[in-house]
Amino acid sequence: MISGLLASSSTRVLLNGIPGETLFHRRGLRQGDPLSPMLFILVMDVFNSIVKKANDEGLLQPLAARNIHHRVSLYADDVVLFLRPVATDLHLVEDILRLFGSATGLKTNIQKSSVLPIHCSEDVLLVVQAHLPCEIQNFPCKYLGLPLSIKKLARSQLQPIIDRVADQLPGWKADLLNRAGRAILVQHVLTAMLIYVASALDLPLWCLKAIDKIRRNFLWRGRKEANGGHCLIACPKVARPKELGGLGILDLQRFSWALRVCWLWLGKTEPERLWSAFPIPVHNCAKSLFAAAVHSEVGNGANTKFWTDRWLDECSIEMLAPNLFACVSRRRVNKRTVQEALTNDKWLEDIQGHYSVAVLSEYLDIWALVQEVVLQSDVEDTHKWRFEASGQFSTKSAYEAFFNGSVFFQPCKLIWGSWAPRKCKFFLWLVAHNRCWTADRLARRGLPHPKHCPLCEQEDETINHLLSACVFARQFWNEWFSGFGLQELTPQADNVDFYTWWQQSSDRLHTSLQQGFNTLVVLGTWSIWKTRNDVVFNGAAPRINRALLLAREEAEFWMLAGAKGLSAMVATRLPN
Ligand SMILES: [Zn+2]
Repeated sequence: MISGLLASSSTRVLLNGIPGETLFHRRGLRQGDPLSPMLFILVMDVFNSIVKKANDEGLLQPLAARNIHHRVSLYADDVVLFLRPVATDLHLVEDILRLFGSATGLKTNIQKSSVLPIHCSEDVLLVVQAHLPCEIQNFPCKYLGLPLSIKKLARSQLQPIIDRVADQLPGWKADLLNRAGRAILVQHVLTAMLIYVASALDLPLWCLKAIDKIRRNFLWRGRKEANGGHCLIACPKVARPKELGGLGILDLQRFSWALRVCWLWLGKTEPERLWSAFPIPVHNCAKSLFAAAVHSEVGNGANTKFWTDRWLDECSIEMLAPNLFACVSRRRVNKRTVQEALTNDKWLEDIQGHYSVAVLSEYLDIWALVQEVVLQSDVEDTHKWRFEASGQFSTKSAYEAFFNGSVFFQPCKLIWGSWAPRKCKFFLWLVAHNRCWTADRLARRGLPHPKHCPLCEQEDETINHLLSACVFARQFWNEWFSGFGLQELTPQADNVDFYTWWQQSSDRLHTSLQQGFNTLVVLGTWSIWKTRNDVVFNGAAPRINRALLLAREEAEFWMLAGAKGLSAMVATRLPN
């Protein structure tokens, strides 16, 4: 079947829109065929095996002092081969490539390949050129869409990543989107496109900040440029989970840490991975989270670090005996496994220097604890991630863990749990943060503002007054709610804070009615705000009936669009 697939593929060339004659490929893979990647792997695995065999037989010189056995990195058609620049090795690889090419038809195109020397002299390069006459390039190169370098990446090398984010801004569409829509774009396009890069590279802070600026400006203004006045809420507040008062847009710094924790987790739980011999740059915050979040259950002790892992009653020796820990050299700390340490009490050799009383006392404690541990030679160590019930790492839980200890944002459920168009929820979110352009806020900024509340002409306008304390608002709420038999929930004159009133009223209702009620409040708030703007900007007279009509019309649309809670409210409506 496989040979049938390979032999039957054909191509036709479109010339001025007219397909030409059919060309049969006879061999090679079809693009876009889901089987192709698997066939490719089957074939390329042979190549990998040949190189591996040459390596194992000692025909290729070892790469470095470290135990690195894998010389080939294969991803789709990007093949990287790591070699020492000596004539025998190059000659052998040349032969392997030729043999492999003639056997499979996958001939190496030397013109399209390149050599990237790492610390090579001119003479050595001449030898390389004699065997592999391809172009000599320098780092950084691009591999799998990422800049690859042997040194720290410079600004100019990371700039394309930032540019790529900026290129995604849909300039002409931005004007057609409201802020709520732009927030979705920020989250699902501008942020999501970074996941791959941020998990592979440890992006520096300046780079994340530059991307943050693009995201911020697009969210608030729909442009690449914006000033502080356009941004109603500061970036760090916006980029928080909704439960903590943000918009649920990812905080890039914390998110990039969380993605990096994944490498530590994989290094711990799957130490046989090919890259595990290499040091992976991980930010200290990510390291600390990892240390705090992983508990080890010791089996044979081979994959648990004696000094730093949490393996003694979910604690590490570093925590239990800080003075004793200070007497152990860094090198030993990083290397010593539980298995080694407990064999003939080797851990005692790690402790150096003078024993103070504190050290001695801790030493005796640890001694007693360690004596109780019995290793099971046939059981592997297991590691558990404490932020997931399954014990398995997830980037989401790691990201959330970086917000541990933050204050819960009370209106979260009221706003985001109600059924309402996003633009209305977004407005209520601004209300919760007191960022609507009411008279008090305009006055603080020295901007022209109405003297009194435009709806009642009596008191100063603040958002809390406008939505719950104002005479106009209270009358509106009363009439609006009485349509649903809920008039006893109307805000009273002494209800100062809009959200406190909302929360208390919602709590008085049965759970089944709460979502519907929350939607009613969002609708009412939206309607009051529209009426207020109509008065301020169009000089209309504040009329309760108009506001009610607006809310009722809007409610019809919302129900048609699927506001179930609201429909249930209307269905159970009590007679007036
Ligand atoms: Zn008023």
